[in-house]
Amino acid sequence: MLLIECPWCGARDEAEFTYGGEAHVVRPENPEAVSDSEWADYLFYRKNPRGDHLEQWCHSSGCRRWFNAQRDTVTYEIKRVYQVGSPPPGGEG
Ligand SMILES: [Zn+2]
Repeated sequence: MLLIECPWCGARDEAEFTYGGEAHVVRPENPEAVSDSEWADYLFYRKNPRGDHLEQWCHSSGCRRWFNAQRDTVTYEIKRVYQVGSPPPGGEG
């Protein structure tokens, strides 16, 4: 069982959470101005690293709030959680 630390509710079973994909993916301000390649990058391409990954999670069976987490994709260790809108830790993103 993996415990995930909700910033508002504390540690809870992973079954209470929904994964929301990579964090800090920013929609281009003016989609008409970007190339097809840049638009494809925004829509489809993600980092998929081995190691630290910045992710979005929702406490869907609890407070239903979204937050970001820094998780190691090898060990599944969640190193920190932080609120949506906060800058990425360590300048990642
Ligand atoms: Zn919660």
